[in-house]
Amino acid sequence: MLEQGALYVVGTPIGNLGDLSPRAVETLSQADFIAAEDTRVTLRLLNHFGIKKPLLSYFEHNKQEHGPLILSRLKEGQTCALVSDAGMPAISDPGETLVAACAQEGVPVYVVPGPTAAVSALALSGLPTGRFTFEGFLSVNKRHRKAHLEGLRGEERTMIFYEAPHKLRKTLSDLEKLLGKERRIALCRELTKVHEEVWRTTLGEAAAHYRDKEPRGEFVLVVEGAAPAPEPQESLSLEEAVALAQELAGQGLSPSEAAKEAARQSGLRRGEVYAALIRSQEKG
Ligand code: SAM
Repeated sequence: MLEQGALYVVGTPIGNLGDLSPRAVETLSQADFIAAEDTRVTLRLLNHFGIKKPLLSYFEHNKQEHGPLILSRLKEGQTCALVSDAGMPAISDPGETLVAACAQEGVPVYVVPGPTAAVSALALSGLPTGRFTFEGFLSVNKRHRKAHLEGLRGEERTMIFYEAPHKLRKTLSDLEKLLGKERRIALCRELTKVHEEVWRTTLGEAAAHYRDKEPRGEFVLVVEGAAPAPEPQESLSLEEAVALAQELAGQGLSPSEAAKEAARQSGLRRGEVYAALIRSQEKG
């Protein structure tokens, strides 16, 4: 049974209809109405599962008017299931604003999790999954795009991008320029569909391949993070280096060996540390 007056964020398949969960079917069947990004797409899904339900469109360009409408129905006690065209609503999809408005107005929101292209691609990429960032779509606005890309120059975590096929070439070329030819990438295409494909390669190879070939289908790009920056050398003052050399000499190293090791760890010159060590030994 669904809770009255609650919003249910329902994940739908990213290709294979077999991925709609039994709980999603139940939620869509029991909700009073369904808020859908594209009512025609959702109608096909509902027909496939034999579900009949009133639909209300909720997408980028009507969310300002339809958001408050949905909110007022929720406050009257109706139950709404929110779906997007594919995958999880609110992940590079309208829905984010509605969930935020519900949270602000104290309207309960529940999730019925389903597939999302980003995490599915990450899992297949063969790249490190321990830490990752979701970058969504790169902007077509030159200034925003440049700022976004510049911010990723030293990013060490695996990065996930969404991209439309007709913009793939430009994105691969921009990423290659920014991160270099050798950086690894997994191009995850048409996931869960008949032509599902994962190509694990480098940015140089991928950019070259698509210079001559028209990209087709839906893509997620998973890009390796930058190699971790080397540990900064600990810089020691001369006094600290001499103290270290004294300690090492106390452990049985000759003054020359102790000075050499202290110089290596401090970044100071060996002769300088040796002379200071000898002076300190003469004094003491
Ligand atoms: N909300 C969706 C989700 O949870 O993944 C994402 C919607 S976003 C508007 C659409 C983008 O997701 C596409 O341009 C593509 O980058 C990616 N995408 C969606 N389905 C995909 C699939 N089956 N295979 C590869 N990428 C997919």
